[in-house]
Amino acid sequence: MTSHHDAIIIGAGVGGMITALRLAARGRSVLVCERNATVGGKLAVYQRDGFTFDMGPSLLTLPAVFDDAFRLAGTTLADECDLIRLDPSFRYFWPDGSTVTFRDEPVATAEALESFSNGAGAEYLQYLERARTIWQVSERTFFAGDMHGRLSLLRRMRSPRDLSRIDARRTLHSRAEAQFRDPRLVQWLGRYATYSGSDPRQVPATLGCIAAVEADLGAWYVRGGLGALCSAIERVARRAGVEFRTNADVQRIIVQRNRAKGVVVDDEELHSDVVIANADAEHLYRDLAPDAKALRRVERAGRSTSGIAVVAGVAGRTAHIDHHNVWFSSDYAREFDDIAAGRVPRTPTIYGCVSSVTDPTQAPAGDENWFLLINVPPRDELQVAEAGEWMLAQLAKTGPDLRRRAKFVEVVGPADFARKVRAPGGAIYGTSSNGRSAAFRRPAIRSAVRGMYLVGGSTHPGGGLPLVAMSARITSDLVLRDFPSALQAQR
Ligand SMILES: Cc1cc2nc3c(=O)[nH]c(=O)nc-3n(C[C@H](O)[C@H](O)[C@H](O)COP(=O)(O)OP(=O)(O)OC[C@H]3O[C@@H](n4cnc5c(N)ncnc54)[C@H](O)[C@@H]3O)c2cc1C
Repeated sequence: MTSHHDAIIIGAGVGGMITALRLAARGRSVLVCERNATVGGKLAVYQRDGFTFDMGPSLLTLPAVFDDAFRLAGTTLADECDLIRLDPSFRYFWPDGSTVTFRDEPVATAEALESFSNGAGAEYLQYLERARTIWQVSERTFFAGDMHGRLSLLRRMRSPRDLSRIDARRTLHSRAEAQFRDPRLVQWLGRYATYSGSDPRQVPATLGCIAAVEADLGAWYVRGGLGALCSAIERVARRAGVEFRTNADVQRIIVQRNRAKGVVVDDEELHSDVVIANADAEHLYRDLAPDAKALRRVERAGRSTSGIAVVAGVAGRTAHIDHHNVWFSSDYAREFDDIAAGRVPRTPTIYGCVSSVTDPTQAPAGDENWFLLINVPPRDELQVAEAGEWMLAQLAKTGPDLRRRAKFVEVVGPADFARKVRAPGGAIYGTSSNGRSAAFRRPAIRSAVRGMYLVGGSTHPGGGLPLVAMSARITSDLVLRDFPSALQAQR
């Protein structure tokens, strides 16, 4: 039996589903093939004994990108999800016992920083001005379309000044050192490199724009957990006409005379002139549509970090924590040196999300759902069996001691991410942003095969929920431009 769709998408990650939704909203027949039994990819949920955990993303920034897609399908994000703008947004802790809480309002955050460290409030506000400019310029240049080398970016710039405005010539770490006198705030700004699984000493300072995005446009939560965002995307996509096939592991892409013609699933051929890989670019060019040159390019782009996640159902309430918490390590340089050397950091920075602080449905009454995450190298051979005990012990050194209160502890590591979503090495954000040319080394969205496209964290513009949703916008726009008429219209 054969079928024919206007587009077939390999993978129901966020990038795949948003692309599907956008194309279906424009009248295209779209089939999404997902190898797992459930959709969402890295956006995954785990439930146990009355606790719910977001096992992938737990922080939503730039919800407007999702709203934009939903509007195409005649609804809004606010109509489909209960969005909560978090205030405070983050609480940061250092090994010396100091702590500062970021608010959902830059002046309030500046006041908190001023009492935290003399002069830091003014430095922060001054930095936000710079970060806002980076964001404004990046939005209309870097994020505006596909990227085929530096020229694509330069063409979208209005003037040579745009190039200096995006602050791409120095690293985020060196910008942080130039901006903040207090080393703790150098560490804070550097952390934004990890939002794309990268090293602050290697990423361009452009990534500092995330500080402004978070401060001005909010750190968001979806009631019910980010799994509720996943369900909303799937629901809206289905309503727009998208067909999903789960447990459908695509074996290969059919390519004839350098044109995509469909995919093979369980030895069945499914036909389409448009095939979009939401699967990682490494998997695409190694297995699905082998291309040695393109694969070398992906390998050169480098993988983002992976992570070790520890979830714990914790009895009772913990004082002095918020929804999002970060316990910084004593030596950030050593931490990233360890990662670069392929080791689990000896003293890691620990991110802790306790969404039950905002949403009591996420834990039994009076209890807390702890999700802890550290950055590790993208190596699926890393052993994580002992990581639960170890991470709780590390946390107890600078933060709360959860060991006696934990009703259960479970660990997920690089091998699990690699196995479940075929993320090479368990990289959680796709390709990294390390290096000055990282943005131009990522595999492009439009491949060299006519009708074959990429979407998601391993292609432009990179990983993280808002970026993969932007990737979906760019991919679907390219498909609509390259294949202007729908199959139905041709018949
Ligand atoms: C632990 C963790 C924490 C994170 N925290 C955040 C956060 O707080 N905020 C944030 O914005 N982002 C965060 N991220 C990153 C974010 O989750 C990802 O960038 C995003 O979800 C990736 O979407 P994607 O479209 O690239 O697809 P993926 O999620 O990678 O999905 C790809 C899909 O393709 C499927 N697939 C692969 N090969 C095949 C095949 N051959 N046939 C069929 N299907 C196939 C896979 O099963 C998968 O479902 C986090 C990620 C992780 C893992």
